[in-house]
Amino acid sequence: MAQAFIGLGSNLGDGKKNLRIAWQRLLEEAGRAVALSPPFLTEPQDMPSTNMFTNAVGVLETELPPYDLLARMMNVEAELGRDRKKGKDRIIDLDLLFYDDLVLNSASLTVPHPEIAKRAFVLFPLAAVSPLHVHPILHMTSLEMLNKLDRKTGVKLLAWENV
Ligand code: AMP
Repeated sequence: MAQAFIGLGSNLGDGKKNLRIAWQRLLEEAGRAVALSPPFLTEPQDMPSTNMFTNAVGVLETELPPYDLLARMMNVEAELGRDRKKGKDRIIDLDLLFYDDLVLNSASLTVPHPEIAKRAFVLFPLAAVSPLHVHPILHMTSLEMLNKLDRKTGVKLLAWENV
C-alpha cells in the first residue's frame, strides 16, 4: 500500500465543486482517502490566464503502481471534460506530487512533481494537509518549502461549505 499526494486545480466553472467531484471520482478509482486540504483561491502562476484557480491537495492510500495511478488520474480529468485544446485554462488538473518516497524521472512521469517547491498554489494546501511531510529529494518539510518561497501573495484560504 502506497501513500500518494495529489494536487488538484481548476480555473473553469465552479472550482470547489470540480475539485470535490474529481477527488470523489479518484477515490472510487484509486484508493482510500487519508486527508484533503481546504481549498485555496490562487492567482494563476506560470501561465497567462486571468481566471483565478481553486487548488487543494489530497492524500490517498492506493494499491495502484504509479503509472496506473497516473492513468486513472488522466481518466478522471477526461471524464470531467478536461479539454487539452483550450490553452492552459482547465476544468480540472490533477498532478501526482509524491508517491511514497519514490524518485522517478521518465518521459511520462516525474515524481516528485518537479515544480512543487516553486508553486504557492501547491505549497499552501500541501503545508495545510501535511506540514511535516519531507520532500524525498530536497529533504525539506512542506512547511520549510513554504517558508522559503519568495512570493506568497495572491493566495486566499477558502472553506468547503456550500459545495
Ligand atoms: P498537465 O495535465 O498539463 O499538467 O500535464 C500532464 C502530463 O504531464 C501528462 O501527459 C503526464 O504524463 C505528464 N506528467 C509527468 N509527471 C507528472 C506528474 N507527476 N503528475 C501528473 N502528470 C505528470
